[in-house]
Amino acid sequence: MSGTGNMLTIGTFARASRLSPKALRLYDELELLRPARVDPDSGYRYYAVEQLERARLVAWLRRLGMPLAGIREVCALEPAAAAREIRAFWARVETETAVRRDLAGFLVDHLTAVGAAGVVPGKDTTMLELRYAAHSDRGLVRPSNQDTAYAGTRLLAVADGFGPEGAPVSGAAVEALRFLDTEEVPAGNVLNLLEEAVRGATDAVRDVADPAENGTTLTALLWTGSKLALVHIGDSRAYLLRDGGLFRITHDHSVVQSLIDEGRLTPEEAGSHPQRTMLLKALTIGTPDLKLHDSRRGDRYLLCSDGLTAVVPEHRIRELLTANPDPEEAVRSLVDAANEAGGPDNVSCVVADVV
Ligand code: MN
Repeated sequence: MSGTGNMLTIGTFARASRLSPKALRLYDELELLRPARVDPDSGYRYYAVEQLERARLVAWLRRLGMPLAGIREVCALEPAAAAREIRAFWARVETETAVRRDLAGFLVDHLTAVGAAGVVPGKDTTMLELRYAAHSDRGLVRPSNQDTAYAGTRLLAVADGFGPEGAPVSGAAVEALRFLDTEEVPAGNVLNLLEEAVRGATDAVRDVADPAENGTTLTALLWTGSKLALVHIGDSRAYLLRDGGLFRITHDHSVVQSLIDEGRLTPEEAGSHPQRTMLLKALTIGTPDLKLHDSRRGDRYLLCSDGLTAVVPEHRIRELLTANPDPEEAVRSLVDAANEAGGPDNVSCVVADVV
């Protein structure tokens, strides 16, 4: 073999692959695409025609914004596995973008409220109230109840504790938020207040138990008189029942949810997945999601622990919420439904109506 007979020079290869010679030299250094041959005397790089396909794939993946380590991984895979990897990468991008979109929306609402506060200092013009009920139940299988549920005039909260000290931990997290219930909360100040409160709750959890072995989910809504601020971490959930439709307004921070997001698992398969109770985030691990919701008269909110959603399907939850106008009755019927389905976990529900 003389070596360069069927080879393309870097210039020809660059034109054919629509990559610049500079990019090709970079990919060589990064070991993404090594030339088929490097002349030992001149140092010139030569490429084989068969390398064009890989070069194009590298270029496309760069355009997609995939990090170099990911590109290296995809290039080493068979086409079907490479397709799965790209789908998973894109799902992660969309999830991250959704979190950033929510944060951007939150900041827009927050700053709009701060701006409006100059016109009507510290006060909301709409004065709506909450009618609420909360109940937490041990279920039929667990030896103790590690959930905590709370509802007051301004604060609604559900926490699902885990670890040997799960019960005091979830209790401490909710207790640390309780001061919000008696404080006047102007909508423009709610971001600072919630951040402060969550920091307090995290400290409280660390105070009562070893954070290496214990933790808790926390899903809470803070009422300002016209808006609801939501703080959420873990796999407890918040739902909104509006105009007969049930909408989930939180995203589970769980292993199973991330597999669903990445297209590796269907929601149907998730129910029986061995890791279905594993959390990606909880209080003391990770940052909670923050959101601000505009509320309307007639809205109904549900906060619940996974003891409800693991065994009662969403269409049934919607039926029970619709059939029981009284919050107290709605909460009872949801807890009963979880226990009728075997009650395998502690179950907590908070229902609040905007009236
Ligand atoms: Mn649970």
